[in-house]
Order: sequence, then C-alpha cells, then structure tokens
Amino acid sequence: MTVRTRVAPSPTGDPHVGTAYIALFNLAFARQHGGQFILRIEDTDQTRSTAESEQAILDSLRWLGLEWDEGPDVGGPHGPYRQSERKDSYHDYAMRLVEEGHAFLCYRTADELDQLRDARRESGQHTALKQSDLALPEAEVEARRAAGAPYVVRMKVPEEGVCVIDDMLRGTIELDWGQVDCQILLKSDGMPTYHLANVVDDHLMQITHVIRGEEWINSAPKHKLLYQYFGWDMPQLCHMPLLRNPDKSKLSKRKNPTSILYYQRMGYLPEALLNYLGRMGWSMPDESEKFSRQQMFDNFDIQRVSLGGPIFDQEKLSWLNGLWLREDLSAEQFALAYQQWALNPEYLMQIVPLIQQRVEKFSDVAPLAGFFLSGMLNLQAADFDYKGLDEEQVRKVLQFSSWLLDTETQWNKDQLFNQLKQLANGMELKIRDFLYPLFIAIAGTNQTVSVMDSMAILGPDMTRARLRHALNIVGGPSKKEGKRWEKEFQTIRSQLVTE
Ligand code: GLU
Repeated sequence: MTVRTRVAPSPTGDPHVGTAYIALFNLAFARQHGGQFILRIEDTDQTRSTAESEQAILDSLRWLGLEWDEGPDVGGPHGPYRQSERKDSYHDYAMRLVEEGHAFLCYRTADELDQLRDARRESGQHTALKQSDLALPEAEVEARRAAGAPYVVRMKVPEEGVCVIDDMLRGTIELDWGQVDCQILLKSDGMPTYHLANVVDDHLMQITHVIRGEEWINSAPKHKLLYQYFGWDMPQLCHMPLLRNPDKSKLSKRKNPTSILYYQRMGYLPEALLNYLGRMGWSMPDESEKFSRQQMFDNFDIQRVSLGGPIFDQEKLSWLNGLWLREDLSAEQFALAYQQWALNPEYLMQIVPLIQQRVEKFSDVAPLAGFFLSGMLNLQAADFDYKGLDEEQVRKVLQFSSWLLDTETQWNKDQLFNQLKQLANGMELKIRDFLYPLFIAIAGTNQTVSVMDSMAILGPDMTRARLRHALNIVGGPSKKEGKRWEKEFQTIRSQLVTE
C-alpha cells in the first residue's frame, strides 16, 4: 500500500497557520513512508470561497516549503483537485445512496426544522434531528414535490447506540449516535456538503490516512457510516490537537494573528515558522528545538504527537526565528534575505504609488513609509493626545474599530473606508477626528499616506495586531465600560450597511 495523505483547505479567508500545521504533519507522514501528499481545495461553499484566497493558500504553503505531489496547480492522476470542478459526481453518489435506501429527499422548511428542534429540546432530547422527526406523510411529500418545493438529500443515521472510531493518536473513541443528526449531503442548490464531498474525494483520491484537526472528531461517525453505505474501506483517522492561544483558548484571530501572511509581513523566516509548527505537539527524539524540515522528516513518528493542546506563542516563535537568523545566515545572506523581504518589487509597488508624489528625495521615504517595514510600533499613550477627542473617545475609537475589523472579510480600501466612515457617523464623530487614533495606531503619525491604504497593504492581521497593541497602550475598556461599550457598538453595527 502506498501511503497517501492530503490537506484539504477551504479557500474562505487568509491562509491560516493551522492549515500549514496540518499540511506539515501530513507531508511528514507521507515522506516518512515514501508516500504521496495531496493538496485538495474544498470550495463547495460557493458564497464564501474565493480565487484570491485559494491563491494565497497555495502561495503561502509553497513559501513555507510544503510541496505537494498532486494538487490543483500541479495536476495529477486523480484530478480535478478542486471540489467545485467535481460537482456532478457528488450528485450521482448522493442519488446512489437514495436509491439504496441510505439517504432520503427532505422537503422540510427552515421553520419546520426549528419547530422540530424546539420540540426535541422541550422533551429533554438532544436537538440532532433523526429520520423519525423529519419524515413527512407520503402524500405531503408528493404534494411538495409536485409544487416544485426545494429539497435536500440527507443521510440516514442510527437513532441510538454507540459509534466506535479508531484514531491513530487517541485509540478507540466512542461517540453517541443520539447526538448525530441526519446530515445534509446535498444542498438544495445541488452542491454537496463538506461531509459527502470529503468522503467521496478521499476515496477516489485513494487517501490512506486522514490527518486533520481535532475539531473534526464529531464528524467521524457520519464519515464512517458513509464509507459503510458505499462499501468502501475507510482511511485511518488521526485527529491532531488544536493550536491554542497562550491563554489556552483555541487559536483565534481575535487574540492572535493567525494568517501566514502576517508572519511573512512580520519578517519571520519560512524555515523558522515551519520549525515552530513542527514543535506543536511534536518533538525530536533528542528534544532539540531547532530543526530543519528534512531533519523532522528523517525523525518523524506520528506517535510522538502529544495531545495536550500545543500553544502557539509568538514570543517563542520570535526566539526561534532569532536562532535561525543568527546561526544559519552569513551577513551576505542576511542582507540578501532582508532585501528580498523589504525591498521586493511586489511590495514596493504597492507603496511607491502612494508616496512618490509626496517626497522630494529618497531620504524622505523612510520617515514616511517606514511603518510598512515594522512590526508593532514603539508608541506611548501621549502619542494619542489630540485636541479633537478626549481620552475616552480615543480608547473607544480604537476599541470599536478593532471590534469592527475583527470580522471584516472584504479587506480592501473602499470597503474599509465605507465601514469605518459609518462607524464614525454612528459614534457622532467627524471622520477627520475619528481617524487620528487610527493613524497613530497603524502608522505612528498622521503625517503620512492614507490610513485606509496602509491598512489595506498591511493586511487584516497586522492591522488588528496594531490596533490591539494601541489599545494596550491607551488602556482598553474596564469591565464596567466593556459591557456599556459593547452594547453601544452593537447598536451602531446593526445599522451599518454594506455597499
Ligand atoms: N475542508 C476542511 C477544512 O477546511 C477539511 C477537513 C478535513 O481534513 O477533513 O479544514
């Protein structure tokens, strides 16, 4: 048997360090066994998937040195490797399950589903809907079918009992069927859900080991059942521990930068970031902290993964990166690497059009645009003093902007301006005054290019990190203020319109 592993990201946002972490362990496992590593794009959520996100994922994984043997850009014998291009086959597989009695067409409306869940909740049952809840009288099904009502295809699941899953790290896991709903396999628009597409593709792509994050454990019973229904062998499952913030909560962009693009922009070496990800739950036999990708592969053993939630700590990463910079680069190599990082044409050409008209000599550039090459800025509370705003207003502008931008998914200048302008209106502040604290937080001065341009170029995670940094300096809301501010913010947010 040839070992075949895969990473299967959904292209719905910035490339996540968690994706790189899972890719690394899949690649290490495949290389250790002389097998193959596949990259598959799971873009069945058509409303959230974008081509830019897919490109950024491919670029970032490649930047880290995580090369794949088969994938959407390099092809391979089991393509296409993008699920949106495999749509028709999922439909056929879903219908096969319907014909064989393992799945059914469900005409229930959203309101009915809510009522059914409420009824279960009230009778003290788990809200997972079963076929006995969902079934409609035959005549009603006929009537809805005749009226052309929308339907989904759902899989049948046992009403009770225990599902036993074998996990390479956790051994036997028992999950209660009572908590598993009749999962939708095909949505009313004909697109498959993750569960159907994932199982069909893992089978057709001959994946032997599924190494993925532990957040997917609860999906395992559904997947196991689908393999049984289709009569296919199930790959071995291995659920990796989730990356965590230093406070042990699940790594999230609200507390920590999670985008690989942020770590690139911060100036970490790909070798060091990969090394650090290799330390997440895993260690070298001799416990050495610094190791190359090849050294990791040569010593890899998945059984050495420990399940205690690994902490992704930027300070530790910086320490490790420092070792790489000092020990692995000559002065010439350092100079070249720095030049490629800071002065590469791609990055410069985002900045130059903004500054060219504002300078008289090259020596004006660094004071105007140096913040594009920095991490967290060296700021003092006094830097935020401004005649147009009092201290509380400054803190509020930073906090409200930070809350707003935490969830912004369309990261471009126009959208940022549109949203922040409305926030300023909602706070009854002149946009000019509102922007002052943002200028300081993002650029350290307002004597520079437009702050919207700066945020667009620095990207979501660097922007969010600088806003959080600024808030730490001026002081975020106290507990009492926090509640009041949150309420005020939610009222303003509910009135925001997206253009
Ligand atoms: N598309 C899923 C994700 O975004 C893949 C999960 C899996 O590996 O099965 O993580």
